[in-house]
Amino acid sequence: MAGLESSSLGGEIVERIAELGTISQTKEHLARLFLTPEHRAAAELILGWMREAGMRAHLDAIGNVCGRYEGERPGLPCLMLGSHYDTVRDAGKWDGPLGLITAISCVASLNRRGRRMPFAIEVVGFADEEGVRFASTLLGSRAIAGTFDQSVLDTRDREGVTMRQAIKDFGLDPDHIGAAARTRHELLAYLELHIEQGPVLEEHNLPLGVVTAIAGATRLSARLTGMAGHAGTVPMALRRDALTGAAECTLAIEEFCRTDHGGLVGTVGYIHAAPGATNVIPGQVSFTMDIRAPTDQHRKRAVTDVIRRLEAIAKRRKLALQLSVTHENRTVPCAPWLRAQVADAIAKEGLGAFELASGAGHDGMAMVDIADVGMIFVRCRGGVSHHPDEHVESADADVGARVLLRVIENFRPGAGTP
Ligand SMILES: [Zn+2]
Repeated sequence: MAGLESSSLGGEIVERIAELGTISQTKEHLARLFLTPEHRAAAELILGWMREAGMRAHLDAIGNVCGRYEGERPGLPCLMLGSHYDTVRDAGKWDGPLGLITAISCVASLNRRGRRMPFAIEVVGFADEEGVRFASTLLGSRAIAGTFDQSVLDTRDREGVTMRQAIKDFGLDPDHIGAAARTRHELLAYLELHIEQGPVLEEHNLPLGVVTAIAGATRLSARLTGMAGHAGTVPMALRRDALTGAAECTLAIEEFCRTDHGGLVGTVGYIHAAPGATNVIPGQVSFTMDIRAPTDQHRKRAVTDVIRRLEAIAKRRKLALQLSVTHENRTVPCAPWLRAQVADAIAKEGLGAFELASGAGHDGMAMVDIADVGMIFVRCRGGVSHHPDEHVESADADVGARVLLRVIENFRPGAGTP
């Protein structure tokens, strides 16, 4: 029954992805930043879809679009589904909206059949996951988790507008953000479907994956100081070149992560050499590192090892090394009981339930403070995301919807949930 009913969901989802993708601040490049008029227009469209699907829907004080489909009786704790509806600049259409729109379509399917579950279903379109406008991420999900940091209201965007003012301009009251917070007793779980944003599922020729954890990350910034000098007069043996030192450090990080077979990834994404002239030996170089692993223990051990290697390189090259940790977030494991229910639904579609960790951050990182978290990944072409070429085949969107609907219809709250 469910299979037949939901076989048409993919088409509706793809159409809505396209429609939402037309709401953009600039014509040529998709951009829908937090609290802009386009963000508001997108929210209105999503509110309409939620109501059409039989949900009560409203905007909360941070701009999350919240819809609720009651269970067999009103007021039951909910299974919360969702994803974000903000984008990066020059974005693709699928990152965020796929999970949100798929969840709405699943509820619409239940509603068409008059099906009520022994729990409520809530769908949330998180207002700001990407954190582009105010350089602070997960604002929407933190408001719902009750961990919103009020001090970010005073941060300003590039134009000097404070978040507090932007919320008012959007038609919402920043003093009411506290009221958006939910409690552990109201939620049975948080489950998000999202594009993979990486090439692993495509590599394995699978449309879907079960997410094991959202990988934590440590970001460090490093400065190597040697001695600047004339590119023609200082013999090679007497140089203390900070840039060749940084190059060796970069290759050492790559080698270290490449030989780890536990999912460790490390990236030097920024490098700056000074004084930065063709005929001067670089005396000082700054660079950043981003290190991620599926468990906190693994990542912390890796960071310690990387630092030890960098110190050895600096010492051998007679360079001074300064290191600082600029950002650190914990790994969020997906709840085993939710993983099992997702894997079961995927298997019932006749597919292999492949498990993988998420290297990218997601709203689940905030939601874990009030609920067990699960995620389903959908294959995206070439693993490309945060780019206009981001693409999901409609057959994959369809199988994603079938699996999510199956999870909902067979959902059993895990041990320890209300
Ligand atoms: Zn996303």
